[in-house]
Amino acid sequence: MDYAAALLAKLPGASRRDYGLRRLTDTLESYLPGEQIESIMRAYEFGAEAHEGQKRKSGEPYISHPVAVAQELADMRLDAQAIEAAILHDVVEDTPVSVTDIEEQFGADVALLVDGVSKLDQIEFHSRAEAQAESFRKMMLAMIEDIRVILVKLADRLHNMQTLGAMPAEKKRRIAKETLDIYAPIANRLGINRFKVELEDLGFQHLYPYRYRVLDSALKKAKGSQRQIVKRISDEMQSTLAAEDIEAEVIGREKHLYSIYKKMAEKKRSLSEVVDVYGFRIIVDNVNACYQVLGLVHSLYKPMPGRFKDYIAIPRINGYQSLHTTLFGPKGLPLEVQIRTRDMDRVAESGVASHWQYKADEKSDATPQRRARDWLSKLAELQSSGTSEEFLESVKVDLFPDKIYVFTPTGDIMPLPKGATTVDFAYAVHTDIGNRCVAAKVDRKLVPLRTPLANSQTVEIVTAKGAKPNPNWLTFVRTAKARTAIRHYMKSMLTSESVDLGKRLLDQSLKDLGSSVRKIGKVRMKAALEELGIASNIELFQQIGLGERLAPLTARFLVGVTDDGETRPDTANLVIAGTEGVVVSYARCCLPIPGDHVMGYLSTGRGVVIHRNSCGNLTTFRKQPEKWITVSWEDKVDREFTSQINVETLNKPGALAEVATTIADAGSNIEEVSVLGRHEDCSVMSFLLQVRDRQHLAQIMRMVRNMPNVLRVSRECA
Ligand code: MN
Repeated sequence: MDYAAALLAKLPGASRRDYGLRRLTDTLESYLPGEQIESIMRAYEFGAEAHEGQKRKSGEPYISHPVAVAQELADMRLDAQAIEAAILHDVVEDTPVSVTDIEEQFGADVALLVDGVSKLDQIEFHSRAEAQAESFRKMMLAMIEDIRVILVKLADRLHNMQTLGAMPAEKKRRIAKETLDIYAPIANRLGINRFKVELEDLGFQHLYPYRYRVLDSALKKAKGSQRQIVKRISDEMQSTLAAEDIEAEVIGREKHLYSIYKKMAEKKRSLSEVVDVYGFRIIVDNVNACYQVLGLVHSLYKPMPGRFKDYIAIPRINGYQSLHTTLFGPKGLPLEVQIRTRDMDRVAESGVASHWQYKADEKSDATPQRRARDWLSKLAELQSSGTSEEFLESVKVDLFPDKIYVFTPTGDIMPLPKGATTVDFAYAVHTDIGNRCVAAKVDRKLVPLRTPLANSQTVEIVTAKGAKPNPNWLTFVRTAKARTAIRHYMKSMLTSESVDLGKRLLDQSLKDLGSSVRKIGKVRMKAALEELGIASNIELFQQIGLGERLAPLTARFLVGVTDDGETRPDTANLVIAGTEGVVVSYARCCLPIPGDHVMGYLSTGRGVVIHRNSCGNLTTFRKQPEKWITVSWEDKVDREFTSQINVETLNKPGALAEVATTIADAGSNIEEVSVLGRHEDCSVMSFLLQVRDRQHLAQIMRMVRNMPNVLRVSRECA
């Protein structure tokens, strides 16, 4: 059936012309069943309509480009989904069509492929540094969830390189450089030789046009005189093989320009040294025939000693298999011969893509990731040496990465472990940035600091002078660097904050005795410190602040009061403002909030822990009255505290969500919800939430209590 003619006849006006469609359908018919080709024709119709009126720089209608991209993949016999995605790969970027539209028309797989290609298009390669190129390649591979995305992208780049002529010179050079830095190495890494070779030659041609022209014309000259010889030798080989009844294809092989250029540049060889070598490839049906052919060519021409390589028995690291030998040809000219089967040839040319080549008995349950794994495990099976394991390991890491790659605002790439947050990013940039970060922007939008990052996002950290790390960050950071830095900072804060607190506690206790540090005077202070074996005031304050030494006893000692201090004046009072930092903490057992009646417990090494007077733990602590201090809240405490309420509701669908919404409406964040008990018709849930003070909490409880499905609300002290 002539699919192309049938479709083109249907299309209106200018679209009716054939922009490569006929050739594409010819190729497709050689390996795909009719209904799949029809689906591809629908993709063409859809794409042609979406791109209607758009033109390439060359003046050609836009649809000619996606069709050429599809042709590249069809030449590799890729499956119908990949071909459809190739035809549609630019519609989301360049037309009003959305990914959802594509999903509706062509299914989720094709939509995912198109979306993946569009996402790759959006990331931009900024810097020129070698290391940056390497991370950029990794980032691209890390971003793709389906290897076919990168196959479409490589084919897209290839066609863009083939049609680069119409671009301005500066742009040409930039794209050519990017092709050599990024895309050709990716093609090489995935074993797709046909893409690699052409991308390199085109990249070379546009990056170094002069060098390319000189080399090209020198080669053409050499080739002209070689052609006769190549033909004669091929014929000779062919007839020798035919005489032995071996079916084989003999191809005179040309080296690609960029590899010649690299050999000359890297190994400092002259052109004639590199070029005056004749290459042949002999393709046969099975492995046995490979060795047979080897024997025959060795009898035809004398083999050069030490040049035989058996890459069939010991394949190259990217899965390449072949026999290599070099022969003394006519007039002693070296002949390089590769002998391999058709399968090996396919793998050598298409690498990972050979795993998507359409097979009639294809199982549809093989996921893309699975197939990539199959390819890798096949490589692993072929390998034995140590270096190849390293290669496999690195390909595996690229294809199934445990890292993400994000950009700094200046375009540098930062690798981070999966799940890393903006705080991890801040610490990865610099410890100071981490310590002073207060907010983060991802792709120019403000996000909470705990936000996990995704590939290729641009992350910007907002810092503020005097900002401090929050101990709470430890609950979500992923990197050791961030964790260590935050802990380290906490420790040093503990030191300086405990000095402040200790001084306040001592001042308070001295005041109760009608004294003060100033009244005691330097001389007495010095003598007292010596007696206590303490080096300085600072150390004394710190010990008090950390709860290692008790303020009232120290005050008595300094003032010289000798009675045993049974009667502790109750005016001693520490006023809590909520900004004390790590030396004042709030007990998890009773979760005190401003407005509650509270007591402070001096916990050795941790400073003061605030408990509610009603807290059950107070009874045990009351056995050590000297460790308890009276505390009160400052009038205005400007921060939020964690509190807990228990809510009993009827078991109605959505009851939990309703309560959560009411709490949120009251201006409170819910930290945690847990179900304490579930009965036949009611449940008890516990909410950990953030409140400003008792009033705020009372307001929330009132609102929850008034809800129709709520039976009881209580604040309980565990
Ligand atoms: Mn494109």
